[in-house]
Amino acid sequence: MLIDVHAHLNDKRLITRIEQIIQDAKNCGIEKIICVSDSLDSSKAILEIAQQYENIYASLGVHPSAINSFNEEFIDLVNKNSANEKVVAIGEIGLDYHFEPFDKNQQINVFIKQLELASQMKLPVQIHCRDAMEDMLKILDKNKELLKLGGIVHCFSGSLKDLKQIQKLGLKISLGGVVTFKNAKNLQHLIKDIPLEMIMFETDCPYLTPHPYRGKTNEPKYMILTAKNVADIKKISYKEMFEISTNNCLDVFKKMR
Ligand SMILES: [Zn+2]
Repeated sequence: MLIDVHAHLNDKRLITRIEQIIQDAKNCGIEKIICVSDSLDSSKAILEIAQQYENIYASLGVHPSAINSFNEEFIDLVNKNSANEKVVAIGEIGLDYHFEPFDKNQQINVFIKQLELASQMKLPVQIHCRDAMEDMLKILDKNKELLKLGGIVHCFSGSLKDLKQIQKLGLKISLGGVVTFKNAKNLQHLIKDIPLEMIMFETDCPYLTPHPYRGKTNEPKYMILTAKNVADIKKISYKEMFEISTNNCLDVFKKMR
């Protein structure tokens, strides 16, 4: 069994075919999927999807590029639903310095508030970090006590030094389709040094479709390509890779056990 820990099935490119998408994923061995929110509206949509489909779980959060939707209504929604058995994490939350303009202080503020929320709700976190590794690691280090329930840095693409710090903080990482890209030599090289107990997989669908489908709309069934690619780099069997990543996932997102 495999778990896609980070998917956006509420996206308009996927939601209209969701039943087929879930079935196709299952046929490829991807039996459980965590749908990840990036705003107040998507948090509401994902709660509904998780209620409706058996093996779909919800992560509630506000992405750094949608910080305006971090408001009383969002906090209320999390308060009311955090005990729901299908709500397994807070995320995606974090920092994104890629698209200008952005307000660093505001992003940092909302990030810390959501780390606090996760700690209060006793949920692990799903962290998004783009072009902001230094700030993110600083903030996580300063707020270590909020990370007792663990979590992941999704779509990890940092250095070995970054990875070691993430490990020290007790967090894990998830790897997406990028690891299969021909121009991802650095990441492929780094994977050799990533401890197996830190690795899980995601699609981040509809984005980041693995090779050779790059450019097409991504969906959970393609995650098998990423997982096999990493197993090949690690020189272990697919079966072993799948088992390890699933155990890592269940270790962090305990409600999915
Ligand atoms: Zn995402």
